[in-house]
Amino acid sequence: MLILLRKGIPEGQANDIAGRLRMFGLSVHRTEHEGQVRIGAVGDGVPVDWDRVRAWEGVDALEKIRVPFKLASRVFHPHDTLITVGRCAVGSDQLSLMAGPCSVEGEEQAFTIAEAVSKAGATALRGGAYKPRTSPYSFRGLGEEGLKILRRAADAFGLAVVSEVLDTELVPLVARYADVLQIGARNMQNYALLRAVGHADKPVLLKRGLAATIEEWLMSAEHVVSQGNAQVILCERGIRTFETYTRNTLDLNAIPVVKELSHLPVIVDPSHGTGIRNKVAPMARAAIAAGADGLIIEVHHDPDHAMSDGAQSLYPAQYDELVSQIRTIANAIGRRV
Ligand code: PEP
Ligand code: MN
Repeated sequence: MLILLRKGIPEGQANDIAGRLRMFGLSVHRTEHEGQVRIGAVGDGVPVDWDRVRAWEGVDALEKIRVPFKLASRVFHPHDTLITVGRCAVGSDQLSLMAGPCSVEGEEQAFTIAEAVSKAGATALRGGAYKPRTSPYSFRGLGEEGLKILRRAADAFGLAVVSEVLDTELVPLVARYADVLQIGARNMQNYALLRAVGHADKPVLLKRGLAATIEEWLMSAEHVVSQGNAQVILCERGIRTFETYTRNTLDLNAIPVVKELSHLPVIVDPSHGTGIRNKVAPMARAAIAAGADGLIIEVHHDPDHAMSDGAQSLYPAQYDELVSQIRTIANAIGRRV
């Protein structure tokens, strides 16, 4: 239920209302919109006499939140959520450009790529130190050493760090080095992991699962937000369809759909979305034109020898060219790089 409090209500009275709702056994979340305190009170099967609540002093109106992703919905929080990542506010007019290798492979690789993407205009360096791999025999990442390298490379060029956290036990470790905790597509419904990052003090980049509906994806975001971490950046990275000419099918429909349903920012990963180097730029341009808040793109200076995802990694020069095209598109739609 959404409880709208009287405008100008004293802080003590708003807290008192929140406290009374908590005593019913509800989980209580608060936001503000146009000078009005809004309380989202959630809890399945908790019996509450809402007519009584409606009559409480200080309560203006009640509104049922009809979508299952309550706190992630625009009903609860009507305006866009902005999430600070380095020098970019994700979800603002400024597009968030994250780029880097699929996996951190070593010092020289990470520094070379960090320098290139930073010169091109990226504000965050991506790179996996713990890699989810379809085959148990594939490279699984450098672990903590990879995180250290990534952090050093990012710091050298003024970039923020985005890196994947595979497991609940790894959350504190990855959070020590990364500015954004990436939840991979394969982990989108790992509820223990979602809960763990929900308690972390870092933004979460939540990738859409390979076979997840938009509602399931938003429900996963709800798991994180309901634990107290409202800093969730959604990432469309392609879904599995019957098509075989591309690695995945990038669902650009999801952008305007999510934008209407949720206040959370949504970025696009055209690298995993297509799986093919020369398809990345066209889909990146389309994603920005469709209203995405940013892009996360794999870039490698020597993709033929990359430990993972070389075939979909852009050369630095291609990334540079893409960013200038993105700049033009951004101008046309009232945004900027
Ligand atoms: C990645 O970003 O390298 C990755 C493994 O992504 P996804 O979880 O979307 O497959
Ligand atoms: Mn990858």
